[in-house]
Amino acid sequence: MAVVKADLEACQGYANCVVGAEDYFDIDDDGVVVLLRAEVSESDRGRVEEAARSCPVSALLVEDQ
Ligand code: SF4
Repeated sequence: MAVVKADLEACQGYANCVVGAEDYFDIDDDGVVVLLRAEVSESDRGRVEEAARSCPVSALLVEDQ
């Protein structure tokens, strides 16, 4: 099982992550990423990692738990 973590200080609200995996990421009214779930199933891992890599400020991390 992997988990996704977000650096809320680093997030600049570009929303690339939402485009990449809208079932994992959202943006709140202040323009900061919201994690809709933390645990990443193996079947979702590839696209969630891709969404994390698309973040221009590297605010997202997918790691083994
Ligand atoms: S892509 Fe990065 S900066 Fe943009 S909303 Fe997602 S976490 Fe924040």
